[in-house]
Amino acid sequence: MDVESRERQETCDVNPVTGIPPANHDSSLIARLSSHPPVAYFSRMRLYREPLVTLIGRPQFIEPAQLPVQWREPGSDGERLAEFAGRLCYMSQRNPANRTTAEYLINILKQGHGSVFEHAVYVLLIEGVSRSLSHELVRHRAGFGYSQLSQRYVDESDAAFVMPPAIQGDEAAEAEWLEQMQAAQASYVQAVNRLMERYAWIEDRMHRRKLAREAARSVLPNGTETKIVVSGNIRAWRGMLELRLGEGAEREIRRLAAKVLATLRAETPRFFADFELYPAEDGEQAARVVYHKV
Ligand SMILES: Cc1cc2nc3c(=O)[nH]c(=O)nc-3n(C[C@H](O)[C@H](O)[C@H](O)COP(=O)(O)OP(=O)(O)OC[C@H]3O[C@@H](n4cnc5c(N)ncnc54)[C@H](O)[C@@H]3O)c2cc1C
Repeated sequence: MDVESRERQETCDVNPVTGIPPANHDSSLIARLSSHPPVAYFSRMRLYREPLVTLIGRPQFIEPAQLPVQWREPGSDGERLAEFAGRLCYMSQRNPANRTTAEYLINILKQGHGSVFEHAVYVLLIEGVSRSLSHELVRHRAGFGYSQLSQRYVDESDAAFVMPPAIQGDEAAEAEWLEQMQAAQASYVQAVNRLMERYAWIEDRMHRRKLAREAARSVLPNGTETKIVVSGNIRAWRGMLELRLGEGAEREIRRLAAKVLATLRAETPRFFADFELYPAEDGEQAARVVYHKV
């Protein structure tokens, strides 16, 4: 878990920008939205400014006794899996070119022999990202698997929200945005309550709740926080990171991509030796890669 990021996750008893307790806003919002508002939902609003990325799965390499490789240096299991697979193609386990794993994998990139990277699968838990980000993330199909928090089954009455990077740091814009999120949350709660009443005749309470939530979620904003487990092989991760660390990528997903790269690099650095991070003009990080989409 990225501790620094976790610390940046805020729980707002008061508006963190203006210092005004939410109740000051709530009374007017509540009056506008409902005569029976669930006030408790306004007393706290959780807010994320940074994504959280946690590695939760890694490959395990089990070297076959009948085909041992002459390794020149230690490597992660994923790196060894890829190297083993590459060497199998040419039966070069004896390592005739006397390459280190780092040198071997760079050579794989040079040759464009990216399929051997597909054997190394890493699984990340991603939190503190918006629904708009997850919509972009799941466009990456080849080599990825996803499991995302369900807004049909999970109550979003106290959902957290993700403040877009472009809003962060501008006091007035932040305050306005917080109010907008609170209003959306109030609308959601109101809609759930109304639908629970409307469908009171449905005896199965779980079914009724699902029915209410799946309709009520339509009023939640793109900034609603989501959580998603993403498994991806290294070929897929490299492709996604190259695209989402480009300066043309949206800022929130670029921020996420920088964290994903840091997390995967810490775990298995040799797969990402050609990624060069630099600060872009907009204040986010971007990256150049030497070997494109292998
Ligand atoms: C800066 C930026 C702006 C974007 N803007 C928009 C936008 O405005 N609207 C929008 O809809 N999307 C947008 N996207 C998403 C983009 O179009 C891709 O859907 C996304 O980047 C995933 O890329 P991909 O399809 O290469 O990835 P994957 O689906 O992971 O595919 C990886 C690679 O596998 C191959 N592949 C996968 N599926 C097939 C297939 N069916 N047939 C043949 N080859 C295949 C291709 O070589 C592909 O590049 C944007 C992406 C970026 C980075």
